[in-house]
Formats: sequence, structure tokens, C-alpha cells
Amino acid sequence: MGLSEFALIDRFFRDCGARRTDVSLGIGDDAAVLEPPPGKQIVAAIDTLVEGVHFPLHSPPASVGHRALAVNLSDLAAMGAEPAWALLALTLREVNESWLAEFSRGLDTLAREHHVALVGGDTTSGPLTVSIQVLGFVEPSRALKRSGANAGDLVFVTGSPGDSAGGLAVELGSLHAATQPARTYLRERFLFPTARVALGRRLLDFASACIDVSDGLLGDAGKLAHASRCRVELEYSKLPISAALLDAYGEQRARELSLSGGEDFELCFTVPPSRIVDMERALPAERWGYSRVGVIKQGTDAVVVDNGTVMDFSHSGYDHFSTVR
Ligand code: ADP
Ligand code: MG
Repeated sequence: MGLSEFALIDRFFRDCGARRTDVSLGIGDDAAVLEPPPGKQIVAAIDTLVEGVHFPLHSPPASVGHRALAVNLSDLAAMGAEPAWALLALTLREVNESWLAEFSRGLDTLAREHHVALVGGDTTSGPLTVSIQVLGFVEPSRALKRSGANAGDLVFVTGSPGDSAGGLAVELGSLHAATQPARTYLRERFLFPTARVALGRRLLDFASACIDVSDGLLGDAGKLAHASRCRVELEYSKLPISAALLDAYGEQRARELSLSGGEDFELCFTVPPSRIVDMERALPAERWGYSRVGVIKQGTDAVVVDNGTVMDFSHSGYDHFSTVR
């Protein structure tokens, strides 16, 4: 075992993440003492990654550290919140110093990028499990919810969903068709997803609803639809597909993956027509990396339309040639 629990925390986690003046007492005591900014609401999220369930066995440890934080930052981004503090509950099978060094480096790099301080946690032994809680702030009553969309709003998504699913296939060794640059790009999207925190903050001024895409665009759009009591209509021809995903899977399968692939941690958001011009001026789509994928209608579900016809996804996957009215 080598390192004691105390030495392990000291070595790998005490200086992890950003330094913040609102941390009155960080790692080392029984609990952290934090000073929220006056007049803000606290936004909190927690997510757990279990080896073999949420990431493959023998994943690069820097990626495990990055992803465990990124999934939470993405949840805060979807609320329009500014992340500040994180707590880490780490369950380890063994104390592997090189694994821990890489893991904490992946976590540290992303935490610093977002000015997040690691203020506490817990270390225990068992099957490799990483649970991170993130706390952040939002202006009172302004958090972006899933429930604010209205008929007529336009629907947008960041990035190119499906890339992470392609990257997982690369990581698992089951994607052989693609070129080397495409494989490298997709793998990177899976291992080191981007949390759209800065955009989420800016969307407070424009969006009516927002969700982060963790379980596939169509499924998560369905959650937004349900919460907003409306229909999300995604346009098949408007799905943003990366060149790499297209190269790896061809047009039809790539579009399918962009709808069903998980873990992209992109933002899907809705904007009322009256706010579109201002949003496009303040947040040019090219620079901020989002594109319009659909529109909100009356209903309570998410559907994909192609040439005005609703496509049928009722079977496992979907049949490109079978449609319903
Ligand atoms: P206690 O037994 O009182 O819960 P611990 O000995 O578990 O305290 O933890 C000591 C300090 O180290 C606490 O401040 C705790 O938040 C922090 N800590 C423990 N494990 C981790 C970890 N994996 N990452 C960050 N901080 C940790
Ligand atoms: Mg204690």
C-alpha cells in the first residue's frame, strides 16, 4: 500500500484545482467552510462514475479525473451557473501512485480551467468509483431550467453529439473503419469532453430552457419536452455531424448516433424567436459552437422530422425507411 490515507490526500488532492478566496477552510479539517457571494443562489450537482459501468476498465486515469468533474460542470452549465467548489469521494481498489498522479492531474487541469477549488472529499477502499459534487452560484431565480420552453421557440445544440459514442467505440477497440485522424478526434471527445460553462452563463440572457445532453440528444430533448409540456421537433437534416463521425460511420449511422449516443455533455437549449437576433449578435454561433436543430411545437415529446414527416424511432434504434404520421 505504501502511502497512508493522510499522505495520499496531502500529495494528490490538497493543492488540486484553483485557489479561491471564498474558501475559508479547505481540505484538512472535518469539513470545509465556504463563503457564498452575497445575493446569489447555490446550485449543486453530484455524479458518480463506476469503473466498468461509466468508463471502461483501464481507462487513462487523467480522463477519469477530467470526466468525473466535467459531467458535473456540464450539469451546472445547463443551469447557467458559475461553478466554484468541488468535493471528491474516491473509492480505490489499491493505492497506485502513478494512477493517482495522472487522475489528479486530469482533475486539476479542468478544475483550474474553470476556477474550481477542491475543498474536501472522502477516500475509501473498494471497486474504483469516483463521485464528485460541484457547487456553484447563480443570480436569484435566474437558473435555466428544463421547463421553460414554449411553442415557437427555436432549439439549438452545441458541438456535434454522437462523437463521444464514436470515441467510446474507438476506446473499446470496436471501431476499425475510420481514418487515424478521425479515430484520434473521436477518442478525445469521449475521454476529454468539454463542459459548456461559459456558454451556459451567457444563455441566462437568451434561453427559455436548457438541458445537458448526457443520455443522447433525442432522449434528453424528450426530458426537456416533458418538463416544458411541449414537443421538441428535431430536424434530421440539421443535426450537426462532425466530419470524423461521418468518416467513421457514414451518413445514416452517424445521424443515428448523433441522436442516441450518450455522454457528449453538450447543451440543448431553446430560445424564443424574439431573442434570436440579440443572441446571434452577442453569441455568434460559429464562435460559440452551437447550431439550430429544431423548433418547439405543441405536444409532450421529442420527435425527429425529415421533409416534414415524423421518423419512427419506436423500435430499438430506428428504421430509416419506416415512418409514422
Ligand atoms: P473525516 O474522517 O473527518 O471525514 P478524513 O480523514 O476522511 O476526514 O478527511 C480529512 C480531510 O481530507 C477532510 O478535509 C476531507 O474533506 C479531505 N479529503 C478526504 N479525502 C479526500 C479526497 N479524495 N479528495 C479531497 N479531499 C479529501
Ligand atoms: Mg471528521
